[in-house]
Amino acid sequence: MPDALNAARAAVDDAASIVDGGCRHLAHAATDGERISVTKLDEHQVLGYDVAHAASAIAGCRVMLDYAERGEYESMLARGFVADALADLVSRVLGRESTWGVEAGDLAGALPFVEGHRSPAFLQEIAARLERDGTGPAHLGDEFDLVRETFHRFAADKIRPVAEHIHRTNADIPEDIISGLAELGGFGLSVPEEYEGFAQGGEHDYLGMVVATEELSWGSLGAGGSLITRPEILTRAIVRGGTEEQKRRWLPRIATGELMVGVMTTEPDFGSDVGGIKVTATPTDGGYRINGVKTWATFAGRANTIMLLARTDPDPSAGHRGLSIFVVDKDPSTGHAFEFTQDGGTSGGGGRMEGRAIDTIGYRGMHSYEVAFDDWFVPAENLVGEAAGLGKGFYLQMEGFENGRLQTAARAVGVMQAAFEAGLTYAQDRRVFGKPVIDYQLSQVKLARMAFLIQTGRQFSYDVARKMGGGEGALEASMVKAYVCRAAEWVTREAMQLHGGMGYAEEFPVSRYFVDARVLSIFEGADETLCLRVIARRLAEQALA
Ligand SMILES: Cc1cc2nc3c(=O)[nH]c(=O)nc-3n(C[C@H](O)[C@H](O)[C@H](O)COP(=O)(O)OP(=O)(O)OC[C@H]3O[C@@H](n4cnc5c(N)ncnc54)[C@H](O)[C@@H]3O)c2cc1C
Repeated sequence: MPDALNAARAAVDDAASIVDGGCRHLAHAATDGERISVTKLDEHQVLGYDVAHAASAIAGCRVMLDYAERGEYESMLARGFVADALADLVSRVLGRESTWGVEAGDLAGALPFVEGHRSPAFLQEIAARLERDGTGPAHLGDEFDLVRETFHRFAADKIRPVAEHIHRTNADIPEDIISGLAELGGFGLSVPEEYEGFAQGGEHDYLGMVVATEELSWGSLGAGGSLITRPEILTRAIVRGGTEEQKRRWLPRIATGELMVGVMTTEPDFGSDVGGIKVTATPTDGGYRINGVKTWATFAGRANTIMLLARTDPDPSAGHRGLSIFVVDKDPSTGHAFEFTQDGGTSGGGGRMEGRAIDTIGYRGMHSYEVAFDDWFVPAENLVGEAAGLGKGFYLQMEGFENGRLQTAARAVGVMQAAFEAGLTYAQDRRVFGKPVIDYQLSQVKLARMAFLIQTGRQFSYDVARKMGGGEGALEASMVKAYVCRAAEWVTREAMQLHGGMGYAEEFPVSRYFVDARVLSIFEGADETLCLRVIARRLAEQALA
């Protein structure tokens, strides 16, 4: 085993030097003077996208090489992943060597390792252990095992029994899921202790959030796994940019679940291009008037608190520097539409807010709304940071999204784990041509690949959580999000495929996992935008430095 692991390490080093070469090539092609030009970067999008995913895979390999030290099965999963990642790298580079600025055959030295660990025989060795060892141990220690058990039990008892009904009837999330999660402290995981939450600062906060999110998402992505994402995004913005009075006013109520949060960033004409948003907040007596249309605001009906990004600087040339964040109060509502008016007799009255849920193929329960604001009044004290917060909105929003991306990776791991378990059970139970589906080589190889993709997603998320706890890891949070969300599409697809025709029937939850997983690489930074504008750009800048 040590020899095999050494070979894995050497193979990863070879792969990393190819990816580094690609990054240097990209940096060279996209340099304008001393800096990386986004316009030039856009002329090399195929390379940018591919190096972003390849570098993310290499980061995953490094994490798994550490995991491999924990035991024999861990090592098998790690080696399986490394070989798989290298094969993927070859497929990205083959025929595009000049685009990457590398030589054909640069990975030749790693081929014997890949051959040994992509072989059906090796993958079948992993498959032989799936029933007993599943996707492998998490190795997070007793404290986090307890967190995992607690949220797992909640997901099993409260979320799973209603998840199918919510999905099929596009129903609202039952209040007892929200109150139960509040009792468990789920909404206070990122709220600092001094504001009555559970966050103590450091990696424990991030790890706790990742573990809880994974388990809730195992229950259901729409009805559980995403409930704590929005409160966390707003919490981070308030902690970073709010006044002391605002922290005391909002954070304890977020922690208890009294405030349910919706986030309104996206607009009909601006999704990936957040800096261009047009919804305005215009100063008026005692506050601001909000005008314009937001879209895809998840949970905006049930929410009684909206984190709204709006343009406070009317000068269009201010771009992303002209944006600010508001905390907008509203009444909670049920169902797929809402309409509120502000009492015309009060100061700042006469405003209107109207929302309509957009029907979606999955991710149901919270509903995502298009919301029109017409002169909606927001008091000045609800501008995050008050006067000092003017123009800071874009930066606060982006910081919140960094944590959101890590959480989205954890959501993907939870959905994948659920799909894997469903696929394994079905393949064991279903007999075709006289024997169980699991007994066929192809099924075994699929399930083995699922196992190491899931464990890599998990370990990679933990690693990023630790980095973020130490004040780093912004790039890695984007990487883990990009990588794991794509993996979730394959895992859920194959889990569904293992069910044959029943995979297409609504009576098995695996079809829900498949449609739910599909949203993961669209929101919290669409895959392409994340890879091109965040990951590739940062890698090119690093290569230039
Ligand atoms: C179910 C769901 C829930 C959501 N919840 C929320 C929420 O709660 N709050 C909120 O504010 N938003 C939310 N969103 C919105 C989500 O964040 C956006 O959909 C996402 O940012 C993409 O924006 P867009 O839809 O406008 O796509 P566009 O920006 O129009 O992108 C279209 C396509 O072009 C690609 N693309 C974009 N730019 C480039 C480029 N430079 N080069 C190459 N390709 C590019 C994109 O990757 C994508 O594939 C949600 C979306 C969904 C589907």
